[in-house]
Amino acid sequence: MSKIDWITHELEGLKQAGLYNKIRTIQSPQGSWLVVDGKKVLNFCSNNYLGLANHPNLVSAAKKAIDSMGIGPGAVRSIAGTMSLHLELEKRLADFKGVEATITFQSGFTANLATIPALVGKEDVIFSDRLNHASIIDGCRLSGAKIIPYEHNDPKSLDEQIRINLNQFRRGLIVSDGVFSMDGDIASLPDLYEVAKKYDLLLMVDDAHGEGVLGKGGRGIVDHFNLHGKVDVEIGTMSKAFGVVGGVVAGNSVIIEWLRQRGRPFLFSSAVTVPDAAACLAAVDLLENSTELVDKLWSNTRFFKAELKSLGFNTGASETPITPVMLGEAPLAQQFSRELFEAGVFAMPLGFPTVPQGKARIRVMISAAHSEKDLEQGLAAFKSVGKKLGVI
Ligand SMILES: *Cc1c(COP(=O)(O)O)cnc(C)c1O
Repeated sequence: MSKIDWITHELEGLKQAGLYNKIRTIQSPQGSWLVVDGKKVLNFCSNNYLGLANHPNLVSAAKKAIDSMGIGPGAVRSIAGTMSLHLELEKRLADFKGVEATITFQSGFTANLATIPALVGKEDVIFSDRLNHASIIDGCRLSGAKIIPYEHNDPKSLDEQIRINLNQFRRGLIVSDGVFSMDGDIASLPDLYEVAKKYDLLLMVDDAHGEGVLGKGGRGIVDHFNLHGKVDVEIGTMSKAFGVVGGVVAGNSVIIEWLRQRGRPFLFSSAVTVPDAAACLAAVDLLENSTELVDKLWSNTRFFKAELKSLGFNTGASETPITPVMLGEAPLAQQFSRELFEAGVFAMPLGFPTVPQGKARIRVMISAAHSEKDLEQGLAAFKSVGKKLGVI
């Protein structure tokens, strides 16, 4: 018996249950079409909502910045890694989002790992939506605070949990995804705000899938609900609609200042590179100058969803460009995805533990980069595979 036999056994188990994740290799730039494992396919998988991942403005901004400032930051932000580009990006993001201040991180994941433990500790309590993203869950665990889940997107359940539990703790934090990445539904942020106000608790929303998507010109969920100044902490990412990589925390300037002193991934992990920061700045420029890409994203989304529904597919609770096609069991979702791939459409199956048992699905990610012809081609593939497998 080798000491890693158990891992081989676990991997076998995943394969037999249809839950083994076969990771495809992308051999082309991001866009509406990709070369995947040598085959040209329609891309329904990326979070590249606005098509910025290979946008000429971002590419040239990154190149120009490299020529004048080099590549690497050389250090963590708090020692010698804060370059003028990082501060410029933080200022521009604050203006874009209409908040007092922002701080940027290497990713949305690290933004959560930095923020939650800086706000609550062992004597405190976190009220967390049951379907929150893994990075929120990990940030909550790292904080050492008591984690009390409330029913998904249910302010009544939240209120009840707070009422029963809050008095045993020093401080409390409410945390929710803005857009839930598996179902594409939007958090009832105005209701969460009312509950937070009632109990005087900190309110934090992770808007990774809403940044560049929701609100006026992509300003995010707080703008979407016109809750400016009412949500204490907004987490965002530059890895999705912004087309680059990086995380951002936006909000009250005192909280942002605290994160510069106590956010561990800020203090102990190096900053994003020069081309990353420069490309993010170019993305902010594009979003501030025009709402065209965000408008295109939404018109594509409306068209695609309406057509899928009229074919007889179930797109679940989605209200955003995240379009789940509900199939049930994981092996069916995997087979559906394989058949789509054969038909030239790249759309990922999601199964347990990413989504609950029995709720496996294909998740289609709509982008402004898709043309109407692309979407029609995708719909034709869904129709023929759906009929072949008896889904519709
Ligand atoms: C994608 C995602 C993240 C992680 O963002 P990265 O920048 O890719 O690390 C965090 N939170 C939520 C809700 C996400 O969907």
